[in-house]
Amino acid sequence: MNNAQPNGDELSPTHIIAEQFARAKRHFDHLEPGLVDFLRLPQRTITVNVPVEMDDGRVANFVGYRVLHSDLLGPGKGGIRYHPEVSLAEVTALAALMTWKCSLVRIPFGGAKGGVTCDVKHLSRRELRRITRRFIASLGENIGPYTDIPAPDMYTNAQTMAWVYDTYDNMHPGENNLPVVTGKPLELGGSEGRDEATGRGAVFALERALALGIMPGREDIGGARVAIQGFGEVGRVAARLLAERGAHIIAVSDSRGGVLAENGDSLDLDAVAAHKAANGTVVGLPGSRSITNDDLLALPCDVLIPAALGGQIHSGNAEGVQARLIVEGANRPITPEADDILTARGIRVLPDILANAGGVTVSYYEWVQNIEHHSWPLEEINGRLRSRINAATDRVVTRWRAFPTDHPDGSPAMCTDLRTAALVEALERLALVVEQRGIWP
Ligand code: NAD
Repeated sequence: MNNAQPNGDELSPTHIIAEQFARAKRHFDHLEPGLVDFLRLPQRTITVNVPVEMDDGRVANFVGYRVLHSDLLGPGKGGIRYHPEVSLAEVTALAALMTWKCSLVRIPFGGAKGGVTCDVKHLSRRELRRITRRFIASLGENIGPYTDIPAPDMYTNAQTMAWVYDTYDNMHPGENNLPVVTGKPLELGGSEGRDEATGRGAVFALERALALGIMPGREDIGGARVAIQGFGEVGRVAARLLAERGAHIIAVSDSRGGVLAENGDSLDLDAVAAHKAANGTVVGLPGSRSITNDDLLALPCDVLIPAALGGQIHSGNAEGVQARLIVEGANRPITPEADDILTARGIRVLPDILANAGGVTVSYYEWVQNIEHHSWPLEEINGRLRSRINAATDRVVTRWRAFPTDHPDGSPAMCTDLRTAALVEALERLALVVEQRGIWP
């Protein structure tokens, strides 16, 4: 496999999101330029500096961000990530992705994202709690059950969301504040099925897309060979659900590397999980062959699921991909340059705004349950999730099939892949709502 690295700009989230938007926009050139800018640019960006007392008595300053990309369809919705590389540019790009995702799956939310630049591996639980409280307090009225609703993201979890809720609730006593944040612990108004929702949604989207015939010769997942990059919340759940449906999970990986089933058949997923729990990595699983993450991306297989980081498939390695279909469990794992290479090679991609929309969908159900002071059983959540993901997949595939194969302007740059179809669906709905609402005043 060619492992040449792309230039740094190609991997920047700002570039990836801007290029994806530009490709979709070409499909409706009737929109006014001012309106296009409004749909593209964030509505509001907030940067806060928060001083936090550390366990050793020092005071450290942390920088936090919250970006509301759009509230056209409803309150902002999006995770809060804690990572050393969190920046305003990254948070802004990810907020746009949330706007498109919510629009595509027809959830009445806009898009938002937030984060604090920090390394959780070097912070104690008490320090993390103080950072979270001070960050949320600094955001003040810029988050709320009907304005902007955070959720977990990289290196934040249900515990972090419990602190978010508690902080907001202390600042707004006497109100039902549960819907201010989703991804909470079950005991604190969290929803059944939220932790598995993204992996499950990816499997639903894949099943539906196969049934609609996007991979000629294969109409269901039974017997398919699947490789999965990332064995976390998304990858692990997708692996289990696919194996239950008769797929062969031939390889999985984590940040330290991957494992390939020695016999060329299927990995024993219980053994993989036990090995990772005991050793902190899947690497070294008895009865498997160790491979690198680059090797995994180049394995011959039916379905490849990148479920780890952004920018994993790029111009330097897209030629080596041998999967027939890629399902984007992670956000923006494929660069636009790699999209072009994959499309030219006939490899189809179920895009992130469809394939990983299960998480935000069940977050929406959590919000509804909190507002209704009610909780739905798991079967109901999963049934609703399936119908919503199926309907979104149908819209994307129908739109994709309707793209002219020969565009009237003859432009070879006219993208007609599934990603562009999904984006056109999402953006068209947003543009329609702008027209219906009218420009204020
Ligand atoms: P997670 O932290 O539970 O798991 C991430 C996995 O990726 C881990 O197994 C980790 O070891 C692995 N990983 C990290 N660096 C890697 C590298 N360089 N190469 C290969 N593997 C690496 O995270 P998650 O919740 O499963 O999220 C995975 C992706 O899905 C992220 O891109 C996230 O933004 C996206 N996503 C998650 C959700 C959700 O609800 N969890 C929703 C939408 C999108």
